[in-house]
Amino acid sequence: MYSGIIDRYRVLLPVSEDTKIISLSEGNTPLIALPKLSATISPYLTLFAKFEGLNPTGSFKDRGMTLAVTKAFEEGQQTVMCASTGNTSAAAAAYAARAGMGCYVLIPQGKIALGKLSQALVHGAKVLAIEDNFDKALCLVREICADHPIALVNSVNPYRLEGQKTAAFEIVDDLGYAPDYHALPVGNAGNITAYWKGYKEYFDSGKSANKPKMLGFQAAGAAPIVSGSPVAHPETIATAIRIGNPASWHGANNALMESCGHIDSVTDSEILAAYNMIAAMEGLFAEPASVAPVAGLCKLASQGFFTEPATIVVTLTGHGLKDPDIAVSSANTIPISLPATRDAVLQAIGY
Ligand SMILES: *Cc1c(COP(=O)(O)O)cnc(C)c1O
Repeated sequence: MYSGIIDRYRVLLPVSEDTKIISLSEGNTPLIALPKLSATISPYLTLFAKFEGLNPTGSFKDRGMTLAVTKAFEEGQQTVMCASTGNTSAAAAAYAARAGMGCYVLIPQGKIALGKLSQALVHGAKVLAIEDNFDKALCLVREICADHPIALVNSVNPYRLEGQKTAAFEIVDDLGYAPDYHALPVGNAGNITAYWKGYKEYFDSGKSANKPKMLGFQAAGAAPIVSGSPVAHPETIATAIRIGNPASWHGANNALMESCGHIDSVTDSEILAAYNMIAAMEGLFAEPASVAPVAGLCKLASQGFFTEPATIVVTLTGHGLKDPDIAVSSANTIPISLPATRDAVLQAIGY
């Protein structure tokens, strides 16, 4: 029984025997087979979801945050700060509360999903909504943390990626091998960088006999890596990947090149179709950004990208409950109002 990713993978992480771990028992998320989705997308594919929405604050950000906050605490810092499209702020606020530290978060005004905002507030972070986008918020946070005694906990903090690489370890530990492909959404590009690092480390230490090809997917309105240049005004309903100038751009390119992978974009309507498909078909509720790779696999399969049997793991990065507004507005059904009688209920359900 491990309590969290640092406890489980301690020897592979930059901590010592004496490090006091700040953890919420993150990680150890399930790898869920997707038989119906696989059959629908392509006869060649065997898909699994790494459901990171089941982390304590509902996204993969917890893996990086446990280590970033643990190290900030160890270094004697009393406050953490981040820019966020939402999930980083939720995780930072929760782990800072756990550590008894202060937390400041900078978010793009009006562009953060309700569930995520509620988390930052309930954990007692000071939330500052700026009249600009994520990229600008990150610039400000980097400037401020550079000359104040505040620990920066965005994924430009290398401990974040060290923590996040443990998801790749878990996948190999669960499957017994690395998948042929690993698909994930790309926003600031920290996670694709971290997964590739994890797979490579397991391969180099002999714990895995193979490495996957990395598949990254951006939203069409926020696809700087696909197009090759920054996007000044990124737009997508998938707010977690609404980023125009990824901080780990270089790491993503490196992962794609070294793994012989591929990066592509998907439109908001393709994202919404995938969002409803995985929810209805497999019973999995993931936020819009999380299903960009599901939409992406549909797109690639329809273009004949896959020509032989392959195992693919898709990271579902965040829980669907993070963004209840999208869930309700995109559902093709609404609650039916009825008189409180047996007859009315029976009639409504078709008896
Ligand atoms: C942060 C986040 C992403 C993007 O990850 P990057 O490391 O910034 O590429 C995708 N989906 C969700 C739900 C996220 O919270």
